[in-house]
Amino acid sequence: MPKTAPRTRFAPSPTGYLHVGGIRTALFAWLVARQGGGQFILRLEDTDQAREVEGAGQHIVDSLKALGIDFDEGPIRQSANLAIYKKYAQKLIDSGRAYADPYTAPEVQAFREQAQKDKKPFLYRNHRPTNPPVWDGSTPLRFKADPQDRSWHDAVMGDLQAGPEAQDDFILIKSDGYPTYNFAHIVDDAEMKITHVIRGQEFLASTPNYIALYEALGLSQPILATMPHILGPDGNKKLSKRDGAKDVLDYIRDGYLPEALVSFIATLGWNDGTEQEVFTVKELIQKFDLSRVGRSGARFDEQRLLWVNGSFIRNMPLDELYQKVTAFWPAEAKDHGDNYKKAVLGLTQERLKYFAELPALTSFFFNDLPVNLELIDNNKQLKKLGRAQQIELLQKAQASLESSDFSVDDLQAKLNHLLEETGQKPGILFSLIRIATTWAPASPGLADTLHVLGKEATLARLKSSLSALL
Ligand code: GLU
Repeated sequence: MPKTAPRTRFAPSPTGYLHVGGIRTALFAWLVARQGGGQFILRLEDTDQAREVEGAGQHIVDSLKALGIDFDEGPIRQSANLAIYKKYAQKLIDSGRAYADPYTAPEVQAFREQAQKDKKPFLYRNHRPTNPPVWDGSTPLRFKADPQDRSWHDAVMGDLQAGPEAQDDFILIKSDGYPTYNFAHIVDDAEMKITHVIRGQEFLASTPNYIALYEALGLSQPILATMPHILGPDGNKKLSKRDGAKDVLDYIRDGYLPEALVSFIATLGWNDGTEQEVFTVKELIQKFDLSRVGRSGARFDEQRLLWVNGSFIRNMPLDELYQKVTAFWPAEAKDHGDNYKKAVLGLTQERLKYFAELPALTSFFFNDLPVNLELIDNNKQLKKLGRAQQIELLQKAQASLESSDFSVDDLQAKLNHLLEETGQKPGILFSLIRIATTWAPASPGLADTLHVLGKEATLARLKSSLSALL
C-alpha cells in the first residue's frame, strides 16, 4: 500500500501568548509534515468563548510566520464549524451513544461533593439518567461511555494502557451550543484527515475517552504523539513565564535569529542520536523522528539558547550579518559609514549572542565614553601599579603609537615591543591601554580594536585619558 502523506495540525486555543511548549508542538508537527511531503494545518480552537483573548489568534499566526513555520491550510476557526459538530453529535444520539444531561449545575456539584465525602473518584456515569429527555440544545449533550481496559500506542510515550476508571460520560456539546475540546478535536481531525495528533501531555489522561469516541463514531485512530512538558531551568517544575521564557516574538525583537530559535526549540527533548546540538532547518526536516523525542521533560536553559544563537551568528557571512543588524546599532552609529560599521561588526561577531547586545558591545567605537577611573581602580592588577606608573606606561604607549601606521600588523609589533620595553605582562599593559582608549568594560583584541578606531581617535583618547589621570 502506498504510504499516505502526513497531514498534521497545530491546534492552539487563542487564549494567550504562544509559549515555547506550544511552538515546539507546532514545530514537530510541521517537521513531520514537511519530511513526508504532506500538509501542515493551523486550527484555532476557539470554542471556549469566555477564555478567548482578543488578538491571540493573530499573535499565533505572527509567531509561526516569524519562525518560518508555514501552514498549508488555515487558520481555520472551530467556531466556523458548529454545524459539523451538530451533525456528528446527531450520529451519536442516533446510535444511542449520546444523551441530554438532565441535571442542573448545582445537582452535578452535589454529586461531586458526595463522591468526595465518600472518598471515591467522581464519575458522572454513576449518575447516568435512566430516561434522559430529548436533547433540544438547551442542556449539555453527553457521551455514553463504554468503560473497559484500553491500550494504545503513542509515538513518543510508547505502549500505554488504562483501566475503565478513567472513562466517563464527558460533555460533547455545552449548553451554549459550542462543542468541548474533547469532542471538537476528534471531529475536526477526522474531517481534516489528520494523520498525526501531536500535542501536549495534559491530554494523555483523557486519551481512553478519545479512543472510545473514535470507536463510537467509526473513525480510525490517527497516530498519537504526546509531548512531555518543558521544564524550567532547575529541571523540576513546568516552565513558566517567571523562568524567563519569553514570547517568541520578544526573542525576535531582541535580535534572536529564527533559525537559531528553531534549532534550540527542536532540541528541547529531541536529538538525532549523535552529539550534534545545532541543526539547520533542512537538517531538522531530514532527521526529525518522533520516536527520538524524550519521554521525560526537557529543560529550558536560556544560556543554551544564547549559545545556539551565538553560534548561528558566528557562522554567518559578515555581509549577511551586517544586513540583519541594521536596526540594532547604537544611535551614534548613524554618523558612520558602512565600512567602519562593518569593521566594528567583524570584531564583535565572535562575542555577539543576540543583536540587542550590539550597543553595549560597540558603543565605544562610536562614542568617546566618559572616563571611568573605577575601571582602573577596581582592577586588581592595575591598582597595584599606582597612578605614577600607570601614567608612565600610557605615555610610553602614546609615544610608540604615534609612530605606528595603524595597520594591525604594525600595531601588534609596536605593542609587543612595548611589552619588552616595559617588562610588563600583556594582561596588565594591554588592559591599561584598552581601558584608556575605550573606557568600556570589555572589547575585542587590542590591536584589532585600535586599528578600527584609527590613529586619530586612539591618540585623542589616550591624550584625554592621560590628562584625567594626571
Ligand atoms: N486546543 C488544545 C490546546 O491548546 C489543542 C490540543 C491538541 O493539539 O489537540 O492545548
